[in-house]
Amino acid sequence: MSGNFSKIYKQVIETITGELVNKAKFGAGRLAAYMVLIAAAAFLRAEYKNSLISLENRGRNENLQQILNLHRQQVEPHVTEAIPRIMKEQEKYFRIKYARSPGVLFIASHTGDDSGMYAPDIDTLIIPPTEATTAPDWKHQLDEIIRHELGHFWDDLRREKLGLPPPKTLGEKIILEGTGEYFRRGRFAQPFTYSWPQNDNITPEDIYDGGYFLVRPILNVDLIEGHQYLSRNPPAEEDLRNMRAYQRRAKDHILGK
Ligand SMILES: [Zn+2]
Repeated sequence: MSGNFSKIYKQVIETITGELVNKAKFGAGRLAAYMVLIAAAAFLRAEYKNSLISLENRGRNENLQQILNLHRQQVEPHVTEAIPRIMKEQEKYFRIKYARSPGVLFIASHTGDDSGMYAPDIDTLIIPPTEATTAPDWKHQLDEIIRHELGHFWDDLRREKLGLPPPKTLGEKIILEGTGEYFRRGRFAQPFTYSWPQNDNITPEDIYDGGYFLVRPILNVDLIEGHQYLSRNPPAEEDLRNMRAYQRRAKDHILGK
């Protein structure tokens, strides 16, 4: 990922955010916000292609054009088919009902890594073209990303229903990613042990593994009630250092003890 591309992406995101804020202020609503994002997506797609070409010029061996072709001809149709399929699968597994379907956009992620994103302002999954899509099991990898991002979508719908603002604190971020991982890994991913770093040097593993470790026993008791407790009483930093006590309080609350 070139520094220049990151800078351009940052500017575009700032423009989009500014536009979304303005549209919301003037009440033009969701459709207008979509139009802005779609225009930005076309720009980002071209920029992403340029960044791939610059990688190629720096001596990377992958056939980058092939990756882009694969993306357009196979990944996009696969994702379009996978989203309703996985939603149905999750509705059955978790005994939930999605109130509506999310949108999907195929644009580069700002970090240039292989992962997808969920944009809560427009209820949209963002799936970037990635080098991982050339792996033999790319369909499985994409399904895993979609499972996680749908977890964010469900979390967002529930927070909306509870009238809660977007997550801000570390504790809220951990619940967010924990819920995403819960939707991806399911109720019984094993074996699994985890402990929060004592030196407060927090890594992505702490957010994802730690998040999953934290929310799993609570959501296993009752997904809706558990998520409501987590969202209304997010863990403080001291709760993250003592997850067992927080989990006990949450479970007692849900079970009405
Ligand atoms: Zn996530």
